[in-house]
Amino acid sequence: MTNFEVRQYDAAGRLGELSVPRAGVTVQTPTILPVVNPHVQTVDPAALESDFGAEILITNSYILHGSEELREPALERGLHDLLDFSGAIMTDSGSFQLAEYGDIDVTTEEILQFQRAIGSDIGTPVDIPTPPDVDRDRAETELATTQDRLETAAAADTGEMLVSAPVQGSTYPDLRERAADHARTTGLDVFPLGAVVPLLNEYRYADLAEVVTACKRGLGEVGPVHLFGAGHPMMFAMAAALGCDLFDSAAYALYARDDRYLTVRGTELLDELDYFPCHCPVCTDHTPDELRGLDDDSRQDLLARHNLHVTYGEIRTVRQAIRAGNLLELVDSRARGHPAMLDGYRTLLDHAAQLERTDRVSKDAFFYTSTESARRPEVLRHHRRLDRFELDADEVLLTEGGSNDRYDETWGVLPPFGPYPRELADTYPLTAEVPERTDRAAREAAADGVARLVERHPDTSFTLVHDDWPEAALARVPDGVRVRDLHARE
Ligand SMILES: [Zn+2]
Repeated sequence: MTNFEVRQYDAAGRLGELSVPRAGVTVQTPTILPVVNPHVQTVDPAALESDFGAEILITNSYILHGSEELREPALERGLHDLLDFSGAIMTDSGSFQLAEYGDIDVTTEEILQFQRAIGSDIGTPVDIPTPPDVDRDRAETELATTQDRLETAAAADTGEMLVSAPVQGSTYPDLRERAADHARTTGLDVFPLGAVVPLLNEYRYADLAEVVTACKRGLGEVGPVHLFGAGHPMMFAMAAALGCDLFDSAAYALYARDDRYLTVRGTELLDELDYFPCHCPVCTDHTPDELRGLDDDSRQDLLARHNLHVTYGEIRTVRQAIRAGNLLELVDSRARGHPAMLDGYRTLLDHAAQLERTDRVSKDAFFYTSTESARRPEVLRHHRRLDRFELDADEVLLTEGGSNDRYDETWGVLPPFGPYPRELADTYPLTAEVPERTDRAAREAAADGVARLVERHPDTSFTLVHDDWPEAALARVPDGVRVRDLHARE
């Protein structure tokens, strides 16, 4: 039985529905789980639900377990009543505290039973969050412990509560893949990718993309996949395109406490803003000057609300992009917010073949928006598709211009895809919008397509008529192809 259904794909990104039986709700994904500290609530859970549409949140069962003040009320009244939240509630286990302080005083069995007793909808075992860059022995040893705990969790009687299966393995892609493969076989329900926060804090988005793609290879298409501790909206589009469905973060509140203001392009300091680049109620009703003039509590509350508006706004933007089939155009645009994001996007494109497996066959239109577009999964797919076309002709013209009767057959050529049978001109992705002043990357990719077709048909004679391709692109066209510039005189 599965609690997660994918409605639509774009690259590895998914619009999905997570049924949470204990809460009796269905959560739309991708989504964010705001972290609610049981002791300090910057924006209370009822407001998260009413003002921001939160369907799910996450709180820490280990804090409740150890709190003299809240432990009994949580057990007596249950989490939903205690927090005043009717959506789904996920609970963390204390793994974070384990990583921070080196020791905690509960076992996986105990904390799962406690989570069930307080009415958690999604529980979490005590895994070992292995940080990035540790030596391999440590990563393997700790992973073995995490895997034992997952098996304990899978064997435990947890009733209707869903249980998460964190995936560890530090920055070793093969360990992450193996850990993910194991997590999948436990039959547990939600798959958090653990210990990525240090990568996020250091803007190591390229390493993040390697970790996520490795985990996804092991997980396959089970889900949902939770990028644990990821809450900055600037990276939601990229993480979603890699196949992450859930995000969580205390960032909206923690950043507000430091007068930091979230945007989809990065973080701004309130002190440095003359204008608010945002349409949310906070930013339309106040100027930065007014906010600076408020007392600490009011200022933090408004900043946290702005941060939440941006966060949920970006979640909706990502969902709509998956729906429309332009998620990678969104990733491309977000990648311009910071050079490290661009590194992340370029690493994502290194895995275009992996993303291509779930990418849908037809979308609205492919927009060529940067040199990176030449490496998108759609280009790769078109090149593979070239292998399947029959070509029953001795003399074939491949051209960016018009057809010519001197040849047995004429194919079009469109950078970055390369050659295509003319009858497919009106089909995806050949309906692409490409700039008139196209670039070298697009023409090189097109030349690779020409090479692929030519090598497949050694007995056919090809002529390529191109529109001002640079030498670097022409160098990729196989010898033996007659090459002519569209504007040259015959
Ligand atoms: Zn705002």
